[in-house]
Amino acid sequence: MSVYDRNNIFAKILRGEAPCRKVYEDDHALAFHDIFPKAAVHVLVIPKGEYVSFVDFTGTASADAQAGFWRAVDTVARQLGVSEGFRIASHVGPAGGQVVFHFHVHVMSGPRP
Ligand code: AMP
Repeated sequence: MSVYDRNNIFAKILRGEAPCRKVYEDDHALAFHDIFPKAAVHVLVIPKGEYVSFVDFTGTASADAQAGFWRAVDTVARQLGVSEGFRIASHVGPAGGQVVFHFHVHVMSGPRP
């Protein structure tokens, strides 16, 4: 497991040092539009804590933080009006195609490319 880098772009967004198109925020999570959307709806949901990946999050975050995060994913899908039809994905590690090393879930809806 790699060490969390506080200079990653999502950490900067969380600190307000980089912009985002915010969709939703609560105590556990922040959601914003992906800067290079790959679907008609493409939003990223990130936890507020410092977790490198899905594996780090599920392995080390408290039950409260995990429940709050997944509740936020559900809320985001509802808020976007896609709760009847969407997909979620999380890339883990370089071999999984992960580019930004702050855990995030892609919420996408619309035809697949
Ligand atoms: P991955 O780590 O493979 O899930 O990919 C990172 C995702 O973050 C990609 O879909 C990028 O388009 C997206 N991304 C990177 N920088 C930003 C940013 N500043 N704002 C919003 N989305 C971003």
